[in-house]
Amino acid sequence: MIAVVQSGPAGDMAPPLPPFALPLVVNAPGAPYHVANPSRDGAMAKQLDYHTIREIFTRFQTAEAEPKGELNHVNAYTLTVAVALSAQATDAGVNKATDKLFKVADTPQKMLDLGEEGLIEHIKTIGLYRNKAKNVMKMARILVDDYGGEVPNSRAALESLPGVGRKTANVVLNMWWHYPAQAVDTHIFRFGNRSGVCPGKDVVAVERAIEDNIPVDFQQHAHHWMILHGRYTCVARKPKCAACLIRDLCQFEEKNL
Ligand code: SF4
Repeated sequence: MIAVVQSGPAGDMAPPLPPFALPLVVNAPGAPYHVANPSRDGAMAKQLDYHTIREIFTRFQTAEAEPKGELNHVNAYTLTVAVALSAQATDAGVNKATDKLFKVADTPQKMLDLGEEGLIEHIKTIGLYRNKAKNVMKMARILVDDYGGEVPNSRAALESLPGVGRKTANVVLNMWWHYPAQAVDTHIFRFGNRSGVCPGKDVVAVERAIEDNIPVDFQQHAHHWMILHGRYTCVARKPKCAACLIRDLCQFEEKNL
């Protein structure tokens, strides 16, 4: 299980931040790696320079050194299942369902033993549960037959699993194996393009901009910091620029001050 870490102060200019909990936003099973109408305002700032980006992530780090996720899991397998189930669902809703599920099925073989109907009984409160149940069962079969019951830890192998897209794979690589994989969701896309931290015309371009421009010592947590900043501060309709701890560095021309 992942503990929720509360934010803390980050110097005089830093306002209180919301709880630093990782909202996992993943692509729906089978969906293309795409975020529709991500920034609303269509803003795309120029790429910020190295020193400005370093300062931005230094402030994020000062505010919260170890951002954590909210999606409960006990091992790589349950994390993968939880992330797959969280597509178009809230973390709280997934946790409610998996609380009992993972007590009886925390390995692919136990999931197969539980069976699709048994799984549905646990997850029927989650959106798209029938399709998700089919994918979870197919995934369990492949993991048992082809991977000895273990979750593979390459992006390609993860992406080959039913219900697992590039974004889901990146989340699992980042959270379980601490690999600096960057899952770009609508919040990161919006923040990256407004601020100039990682501008790009699509999510693949933003992912590349993150990898290319964010200093390596910040790569591990960059995903969490940007998602949380986009979700709670650099929100879509009325960004909270007056309370933003990087407002003096952000390139967005229409700040809400
Ligand atoms: S100053 Fe405003 S637009 Fe820029 S990152 Fe902060 S909240 Fe977003």
